Amino acid sequence: MRGIKANTCKSELDSEPDRVAELLKIIGVESLNLCFFFYLSGELVLPKQHKTKDEMVIGFPKENDDKRVGMVPAVLPKLKALGVEVLIEKGAGERALFADEDYEQEAALVSREELLAQSDVLISISPVPQAEWSRLKPQAVMISRFAPYFHKEVSERIKAAGLRAFSLDMIPRTTLAQSMDVLSSFASVAGYKAVLLAANYLPRYFPMMITAAGSIKPAKVLVLGAGVAGLQAIATAKRLGAMVEASDTRLAAKEEVESLGGKFILVEGAKDDASAGGYAVEQSEDFLRRQREEVQLRASKSDVIITTAQVRGRKAPLLLPRETVEKMRPGSVIVDLAASTGGNCELTQDRKVITHQGVTIIGNSDLAADLPQDASFLFANNILNFLKLLVQEGALQIDEENEIIKGALIA
Ligand code: NAD
Repeated sequence: MRGIKANTCKSELDSEPDRVAELLKIIGVESLNLCFFFYLSGELVLPKQHKTKDEMVIGFPKENDDKRVGMVPAVLPKLKALGVEVLIEKGAGERALFADEDYEQEAALVSREELLAQSDVLISISPVPQAEWSRLKPQAVMISRFAPYFHKEVSERIKAAGLRAFSLDMIPRTTLAQSMDVLSSFASVAGYKAVLLAANYLPRYFPMMITAAGSIKPAKVLVLGAGVAGLQAIATAKRLGAMVEASDTRLAAKEEVESLGGKFILVEGAKDDASAGGYAVEQSEDFLRRQREEVQLRASKSDVIITTAQVRGRKAPLLLPRETVEKMRPGSVIVDLAASTGGNCELTQDRKVITHQGVTIIGNSDLAADLPQDASFLFANNILNFLKLLVQEGALQIDEENEIIKGALIA
């Protein structure tokens, strides 16, 4: 339960009679006037571990092998305003430089054991390992990224464990759901980071330079897949002064690429299915062959290629075969953000940096984890917005008629 801040005006208190009555009962006075001095002396705060019997507990565990954290101190007060109790695993934020003390005012810092055993709702960036599910409360709700379109059996496993789950990667890509879209948040961070990483490896400048010692041409960047990550990569590469070209199978991307100052490479004959909820659909082998030819022409002149092309639930399309890489200049850099689903480049190795005939190939689909502070902040806000849909008067209300809730509820 929340305390009451000093200088809270009477009309605000009148609007929450139950909360005031409960606070008065706890401090053992009968009327608001009698405890007036509490308001003058500062915040009237209840013991940290205090919890009314029907208050819902939301827990944020420490991520395994990830610097990010599901809740950040700046968003915590807004989460508490939903009337819930919050538990944070000790040390959960430290790799994103959020100290336990930063959370203490609004949340209880507990061990992993306590967190798993006490949370009604458990929220994490990556799912809590299945080996720990038996330690959760019966019927506890897990909210995470379960990728059920890849792990087809995950819903059944969660149900069999007597648990419920929302998968954040199943939230529909609609305007209404934009503020809850963790895929967009992370893709945007990854697109930005991909360009910085490429610039770091590239033995050349990105911007054009005219100096007394000679002139330097701007770097050429090719972006394959102009969704959220691709558009952010284009914007970042442009800011650094590169010349940018981009390709996508969705025609809607053309205008977006051009509005960022990029040149759109159009390959005729792509399947663009409006019913796919904004996602790309699988293309014919003939289209992909023509696209690879078009890409090869550009690739040999590019200094950097950022690939982000994905088709949900499928292996990533192959856009850069070995012979294309071998036509690139030594020193060029490829960053493959589709690495975890097979990669857009034939030579990509997931989570590895390799060099092939002088071309550096970085395979990493999780670059958002390398900007843990802002990535965690965005995730925490997405979660807050999602919980605003799910939590009414401090309790979970699952309205299965709601399109967003229906889309994300997997067990
Ligand atoms: P994604 O990560 O699934 O794929 C990345 C990009 O690769 C997409 O733009 C896709 O069209 C493209 N692609 C697939 N096959 C390709 C190929 N052979 N060649 C070139 N490009 C190829 O996509 P995403 O970034 O998650 O975005 C998917 C869609 O959702 C986009 O239309 C985006 O605008 C939309 N979206 C909507 C919302 C919202 O309204 N809530 C939020 C985010 C994204």
